[in-house]
Amino acid sequence: MNILRFQDLIAQGRVTGRRVFIRADLNVPQDDTGRITEDTRIRASLPCIRMALDAGAAVMVTSHLGRPTEGAFKPEDSLAPVAQRIGELLGREVPLRSGWVDGVDVAPGQLVLLENCRLNKGEKKNDEGLARKMAALCDVFVHDAFGTAHRAEASTYGIARFAKVACAGPLLSAEIDAITKALRAPKRPLVAIVAGSKVSTKLTILQSLAEKVDGLIVGGGIANTFMLAAGLPIGKSLAEPDLVEQALSVMRAMKARGADVPIPLDVVVAREFKADAPASVKAASDVAAEDLILDIGPKTAAQLADKLKAAGTIVWNGPVGVFEFDAFAKGTETIARAIAASPGFSIAGGGDTLAAIAKYGIEKDIGYISTGGGAFLEVLEGKTLPAFEILEKRANE
Ligand code: ADP
Ligand code: MG
Repeated sequence: MNILRFQDLIAQGRVTGRRVFIRADLNVPQDDTGRITEDTRIRASLPCIRMALDAGAAVMVTSHLGRPTEGAFKPEDSLAPVAQRIGELLGREVPLRSGWVDGVDVAPGQLVLLENCRLNKGEKKNDEGLARKMAALCDVFVHDAFGTAHRAEASTYGIARFAKVACAGPLLSAEIDAITKALRAPKRPLVAIVAGSKVSTKLTILQSLAEKVDGLIVGGGIANTFMLAAGLPIGKSLAEPDLVEQALSVMRAMKARGADVPIPLDVVVAREFKADAPASVKAASDVAAEDLILDIGPKTAAQLADKLKAAGTIVWNGPVGVFEFDAFAKGTETIARAIAASPGFSIAGGGDTLAAIAKYGIEKDIGYISTGGGAFLEVLEGKTLPAFEILEKRANE
């Protein structure tokens, strides 16, 4: 993808002494008292901030936090705890500025945090007047918030249109590179796993990937709907019978390309959706009317693991079972470990997928873990994200 990169601008000396506006994703979870409970996103945003400071820029950083009402400040929407945490991590004072849209006082070598950008009227609607004002604050706009890359808002899209220079920060660049490697120019065979609870939330992903991949593995509630489509009994399992026709069309699309969607051979069932419900392994054809399928069985897991180990590229979204309950987690664990052991390049994303990766401690063995939930899913749907579209346009001017 042809976009300007912040690293390149720095190497060309185009950042020193300049006013740099970084749109980061500092939207961290907080408890009732406002204390930050998990700071991954803050730490992931530091390389860009450090690069800008080291290059001698006057640095402004902003982000959204939560879902504030535009134009109505409430203390719980403040980035104050974030400013404090960045300060601790960088070992320096990080002043927080509110009412910043009409001007920011910041000198080269300084860093200021600009209050929650979703407090500005017109942010979500990508108001042109607001975007122009933000663009006028800086010489260089840096988009480093992949988590918002699927939205066109004033601080993500409008500002990129009007800033003198607009580029991708290191976090956004890394996402672009990983996505390109996995989907635009993948080493074959390219195998995708689309699992999780519902076909309906991932139907577009299944359809889009069916045109690109050499193997499409379904799991979880999604696999149950595919089992229905294949004429297998699924008892009381989570499934969407009204989407059987769509499941069949995905299977046909894959078949037309000489590929397939493997249907589970065996499954793990229980009578109740409970952590301590007795689990039993059954052949896929033997599921009883009162059974709930909560995981793929060991034969299926082993068969899929072999496919994954032979893949050139793996795209993973969604656990293949109710991995939150240990009795129904073996399928997901087997898949996770097979991906980790595969010599192919792997990219993974999705809220629960990341939780599964953390549960099995395989972070280091995944080629790239995407930080953007919704944005990652839209990439898999085959959409061009607004952030990439505008940065590419600006690079080609
Ligand atoms: P992600 O957040 O990674 O995109 P999803 O939200 O689509 O994934 O799906 C994850 C959820 O699906 C998990 O909470 C898991 O328990 C659930 N799930 C997986 N398999 C089943 C199943 N067979 N029946 C019911 N729920 C399932
Ligand atoms: Mg989820």
